Amino acid sequence: MMLLMDLPMMKNYIQQKQAEIKELQNNFYTTSGIHVYIKDPVELSLVQKALSKVEEKVPFHILKEIEMIIFGWFSEFEERELRAFYDSGTLYISNVQYDDIELFETIVHEIAHAVEITYGYEIYGDGKIQNEFIRKRRQLHDILWDSGYKMPVSFFVDTEYNQEFDELLYKKIGYQKLDGYAAGIFISSYAATCLREYFATAFADYFTNSNHNFIKKISPCVYEKINSVIYDEQLDI
Ligand SMILES: [Zn+2]
Repeated sequence: MMLLMDLPMMKNYIQQKQAEIKELQNNFYTTSGIHVYIKDPVELSLVQKALSKVEEKVPFHILKEIEMIIFGWFSEFEERELRAFYDSGTLYISNVQYDDIELFETIVHEIAHAVEITYGYEIYGDGKIQNEFIRKRRQLHDILWDSGYKMPVSFFVDTEYNQEFDELLYKKIGYQKLDGYAAGIFISSYAATCLREYFATAFADYFTNSNHNFIKKISPCVYEKINSVIYDEQLDI
């Protein structure tokens, strides 16, 4: 039996419980210990599905590189129409999501950038991935040249991110058209952006696609590095 005078108390209790549930939904830890914070409203079921896929597919010692994932809207997204970025142990992911598989791929792609920092020497130290990337950039240069985009090859052999080069691919040519030119050379148009994106796109494909035939064929050096660096490390544990 509930006395009438208890109603305000009851209301307070319910409000407090609702706030606690909301807090639990907006601020929680995954089974592998990643802190997840929902800064702006997001479709929670998509987040949960994507995160459980990440934890199922990516080795635990790699997940340890990630301290926190924040879902929200950040001004950095607007500059380059991005949906995610990595900075100092934290993944910043857009709260505007429509598909759990796409979100899963986005998270794994950003994990690649964390891995690159931790295993920088092991991944890039022997210059093999760099050589593979430059070889592909030269191929792309030749195809673009033949298609009317006459630019010096020197513009194509810089492995670092270069805004002018990014704008050439992304705006001047456009990814839709570039997908055709880059088919069979790069895993996607975005992979041609710079060395770091070349690695991250291949890393994401490796862990989100159980069939490794394509990645093995299109980016053999990255494929071998992931096998040796990531899995050797796992054996050491
Ligand atoms: Zn990236």
